[in-house]
Amino acid sequence: MSTELAGRSVVVTGAASGIGRATALAFARAGAKVLVADLNAAGADAVVKEIDGAGGTAVAVAGDLSDPQVVDRVVGRAVETYGSLDVLVNNAGIMDRMSALGETDDAEWERVIRINLTAPFLLTRAVLPHMLAAGRGSVVFTASEAGLRGGAAGAAYTASKHGVVGLVKSLAVMYREQGIRANAIAPGPTATNIQVDAAPGAHGPALIGRLVGANIGRLGTAEEQAAAIVFLASDAAAFVNGVVLPVDDGWSAV
Ligand code: NAD
Repeated sequence: MSTELAGRSVVVTGAASGIGRATALAFARAGAKVLVADLNAAGADAVVKEIDGAGGTAVAVAGDLSDPQVVDRVVGRAVETYGSLDVLVNNAGIMDRMSALGETDDAEWERVIRINLTAPFLLTRAVLPHMLAAGRGSVVFTASEAGLRGGAAGAAYTASKHGVVGLVKSLAVMYREQGIRANAIAPGPTATNIQVDAAPGAHGPALIGRLVGANIGRLGTAEEQAAAIVFLASDAAAFVNGVVLPVDDGWSAV
């Protein structure tokens, strides 16, 4: 068994920036054929150029992944271009305003749940028929420390990432007999372009700052997160299913 992914077809969402970009580049270096999916069309094209320039294979699809039509375009393009869809990385995500539940308005809740939880649901449902037909597949999600604990972000983001953990476990159990694995990474703080959305709520941020405090480790790199995603997607993790792997310098161990 090896982490050799040569020839595999991989969709990475949120791949124009941060953890997704590093993941797309890492898969391409391992010989996989990559579909770069992101809202940011220029950023997605730049990642495709970078992969092409290094001798790899990639195409981009731009659009909002919480739109079912964009989801269908992503899956259709991957299958049409590469003939299969072996790996899905549900990575795209946004932060909330760090609001406590009482400060969370409907718009914040709906935006965060739609992008962080509903979009991965839609995309995974759309790739399943292709993986089931092939009798194999691997889905990796980018959850968060906020999918493991209550004091790492606001109510909407925390609920969305706990929801992602639920999707991982349900998929892992429901599809293991069909050769499909589902796992997640739970990144600790990582240097990317992600930002707390708009004006933060009054109560949440101060409390979260106090709770996180010295427990948090060093700032990680996108490449360190990508390496864990590639491992979980690969045959080296053939017996790893339903796991949420903290990649966090020990934060979750405190
Ligand atoms: P990032 O902002 O650098 O990258 C996120 C990418 O997702 C961007 O390119 C953005 O355009 C894209 N995106 C956002 N909404 C989208 C949508 N609706 N449709 C398509 N693309 C969309 O941030 P990142 O830190 O690399 O985030 C990647 C994942 O990592 C997210 O799920 C985030 O919640 C998770 N995460 C990040 C950290 C951290 O500290 N950076 C910690 C824990 C979890």
